[in-house]
Amino acid sequence: MLNFDNRFVRELPGDSEQRNQPRQVFGACWSPVTPTPVAAPTLLAHSREVAADLDLDDQDMASPAMLGALSGNRLLPGMLGYASCYGGHQFGQWAGQLGDGRAILLGETVNRRGQRFELQLKGAGPTPYARRADGRAVLRSSIREFLCSEAMHHLGVPTTRALSLVGSGENVVRDMFYDGHPIAEPGAIVCRVAPSFTRFGHFELLAARGEHALLQRLVDFTIARDFPALVGTREQKLGAWFHEVCERTARLMAHWLRVGFVHGVMNTDNMSILGLTIDYGPYGWVDNFDPGWTPNTTDASSRRYCFARQPEIARWNLERLADALLPLLPKAEKPTRSAPVAELAAAIDRYDEVYSAEFCTAFAAKLGLRSWTPDDGELLADLFELMRLAEIDMTGFFRQLAQLDIGQADPEALREAFYRDDLRQQFAPDLARWLLRYSARLRHDGQPAERRMATMNQANPRFVLRNYLAQQAIERAEQGDTQRIHELLEVLRHPFDEQPGRAAFSARRPDWARHKAGCSTLSCSS
Ligand code: AMP
Ligand code: MG
Repeated sequence: MLNFDNRFVRELPGDSEQRNQPRQVFGACWSPVTPTPVAAPTLLAHSREVAADLDLDDQDMASPAMLGALSGNRLLPGMLGYASCYGGHQFGQWAGQLGDGRAILLGETVNRRGQRFELQLKGAGPTPYARRADGRAVLRSSIREFLCSEAMHHLGVPTTRALSLVGSGENVVRDMFYDGHPIAEPGAIVCRVAPSFTRFGHFELLAARGEHALLQRLVDFTIARDFPALVGTREQKLGAWFHEVCERTARLMAHWLRVGFVHGVMNTDNMSILGLTIDYGPYGWVDNFDPGWTPNTTDASSRRYCFARQPEIARWNLERLADALLPLLPKAEKPTRSAPVAELAAAIDRYDEVYSAEFCTAFAAKLGLRSWTPDDGELLADLFELMRLAEIDMTGFFRQLAQLDIGQADPEALREAFYRDDLRQQFAPDLARWLLRYSARLRHDGQPAERRMATMNQANPRFVLRNYLAQQAIERAEQGDTQRIHELLEVLRHPFDEQPGRAAFSARRPDWARHKAGCSTLSCSS
């Protein structure tokens, strides 16, 4: 069934302490830990595609042994339980050791095609990194992680995946609004899957503690396992690797911006070394276009992690990773802008270049343009400002724009993308003027209408995991009905297709959801 080859634990030093007690872990990249069994696990949903990646079929997924493994009640042959040790900058401040507090790795599997995947249970009990928390996860946040991982993948956004969603049959107590009213909520466990769950924070912690030999080992290991194409001397590989991390992160940011995704907690411990979207918590999808929108209630006042700032924050996070790598560069060269240090700086510059190029390519496609010209920046910026002022739905607007008859350039064609009639009327003249400019630009671009529509429909999803849709699925699941989870999973597998009978899943946010918790803002309590 699953073929394990656990390189992380084999090649990197582990914690000699066996007790599962909160502690600082030094001189090790991981600690052994056994998941804590749950009372009555049930498989609520699974992703067939992820199962197939792991060479698992429906029968395997339905087996009691698999349910045991996915709930943390037993280990399959070859599995090893461990939690990894990392730190991170949270909201701009160094936070010291964090680590997998409620994530337990089960090992690395290698499929028949030789692809390697780490399996990780989220919510399977405390680890040495749990501090005072319980190591569990609530059903609502587990549904959000499960569905969004898969939705992002099908939108073409690099992401960790979700194999399964298991209800634990146990309650978890959470104070959702941090207002002194804890309640018992159903618990769940997601099995996440990625080639690597290594984060920027893994390197930062070792650097902060001066554990430079181990830092070098982790870098060597990461390059060998996760970036095997990189070659050269140690120093050359380090530079090339950091370059690659910068480029992948840049591409990820352009993806988030193009689909309207806001991560919500871009701390350095939530940044994947592979440039994957990782750690789905209080994330959200932009409904009415607002660059300053953040779904995370903890971030409401500073808006550090709001929609439009994500690329800038990713860059800041890359600078923190660069700081962590500095101790590995030859000492004499540090004070000057010597070659290797300059190489790290050049990689960060490269981040800016790649991000801009990817952003322009993505938005050229969203606008139906064959290529991006310098003037298009202004056209897009003016559109963004209009969308912000008029509270236009981002996903709906771009999808409907493909239908525009450029001979008419009629604002009525975009009627459905507005949340408020008063704003629609107020901004109709501005939208009309913008559509005229846009139509002229399209005529100049000279693409046949059908071809333009086809590219636009590949670039502008009809279906995204709108915040209220996830919330509806959660509320039904909390009543014991998982039907909506399955429906959403199915719809989100084909986000760019018109799906007859499923138009309701592309409806813009209803009024009742505008200020409802879970639909507009979310807390970190998960
Ligand atoms: P996050 O904000 O989810 O990225 O988590 C930050 C840190 O807190 C990580 O070290 C997590 O593993 C840990 N953490 C969050 N929630 C829990 C929990 N319920 N139990 C144990 N550790 C947790
Ligand atoms: Mg995290």
